[in-house]
Parts: sequence; C-alpha cells; structure tokens
Amino acid sequence: MKIKFPCSKCFIERIETIDFIQVQDGSLYFYTCSQGHKNVYFEKNEKFELLMESAVYAILDGYYREAVSSMSASLERLQEFAIKVLCKESEVSDELFKTSWKEVSQQSERQLGAFIFLYTQKYKSIPDTLNSNERNFRNDIIHKGKFPTYEETIKYGQRILDITFNILSKLRSTSEQTIRNFADQKQEEMFRKFEEINEDPFTVLSPNIINLHYHISSFEKTNLVEYLELAKIEHNKKSTNA
Ligand SMILES: [Zn+2]
Repeated sequence: MKIKFPCSKCFIERIETIDFIQVQDGSLYFYTCSQGHKNVYFEKNEKFELLMESAVYAILDGYYREAVSSMSASLERLQEFAIKVLCKESEVSDELFKTSWKEVSQQSERQLGAFIFLYTQKYKSIPDTLNSNERNFRNDIIHKGKFPTYEETIKYGQRILDITFNILSKLRSTSEQTIRNFADQKQEEMFRKFEEINEDPFTVLSPNIINLHYHISSFEKTNLVEYLELAKIEHNKKSTNA
C-alpha cells in the first residue's frame, strides 16, 4: 500500500506536488519528492488504521487471503490500543505498561484476555469480539492456507469493521481526551526526533477507512462495499503514479 504525501518544499514555492510512498512500519518517513526535495514527515495514523486500509487495497487487487490477514491484524492492534487507553485512564505509568505488555506481547490470546477483562471492568459489559465460527474462518486462512472467496472476505471484513466501530465508539464516548493525549504524546516524542536530526517537523494524517483522528462527530459505521468503490478511484490514481 502507498500513502499520499505532499512535498512541503514545493508547497513553499506554491507548487502542489503529491507523491505516493510505500507504507512502512515506523512513523517517521524520509522521502524525496518527484522534484528532488528531501522531506521528513511524521505519519500520525494508528497501526490498526493502516492495516485495515491495506486490507482494502488487497481486496481491490484480488488478494483476499492477504486482506483477511491484515484485517485480523488490525483487530488485534485495535485491542492493544484499547488496552493502552484503559490502562492510561487507570493511571498506569508508561514504564509499568511496557513491562506488563512484555508478558503478553508474544501471545495474542493473552492480549485478547486482557482486553476482554479491562473492557468488562470499565463498561460492565462484554466487548464485541469474533465468535468461534469467525475465528475458525480466520485460522483456516492464516494457518491452513485456505483461499477465501470475495463474498467471504467482504463478510469477514464488514464484521471486523463493525467490531472496530463498536469498540471505538464506546472508547471514544468515555475516553476521547485520553486518546487525544496519546496522540499528542506520540507527536511530542516524534518532534524531539526531528530536533535531533535538525529537521522542521511536518506531519501527515492519511484518510482511511477508520479515521480515528477525525472529529468524533464524523465518526460513523463504514460500509465496506461502499468504501471499496471510493477506494477504487484513489487506487487507480496511485497505479498511474507508481
Ligand atoms: Zn518538492
């Protein structure tokens, strides 16, 4: 998947240059625009957003196994995000969180257990999670090499989106400020890195299928099939710019 970046130096010269850059694991992007300017950007999206967006492009390209894999990873990273937010609200220090996270970081079932109980404690209800049929479907694809059909992929993807919406809307209803503080903290850490390398701090936020950092008033349940239609147009632009 590629992310859209505007060149900050062309912008100063009042020229609009947009480049499509391969998504990477870290949030700090070094990129040279098509006019030869060097740029450094902090990409602000959460991992679960980028993984879900990546699944959308995998569907458009016909890679359904890869789409299911990215969607499943997105859900796990969303659960990690929720755990972080809920711990932060209970005044767990970053250092203590990191130490505890090490104990569960290698086993997704432990993370799921932690998520279910933190959520239950906070909201006095059970969080929406995959049921056993949905988990079996995911496992057949990821571990047994099954090729899903388009219809199966869409059904699973819509379910992941619905779970994501249910978890995030609950989280945002009680903890919007904590979520913003998290984003601010991450940005401050990144800006210190910009200082270290003596670069002006620029940020980019890529629109995506989840849009966590958009205003809460525009946060709504997404229909996967409708989103695919919109993404197809963007995808064609990226292909011609590749
Ligand atoms: Zn440029």
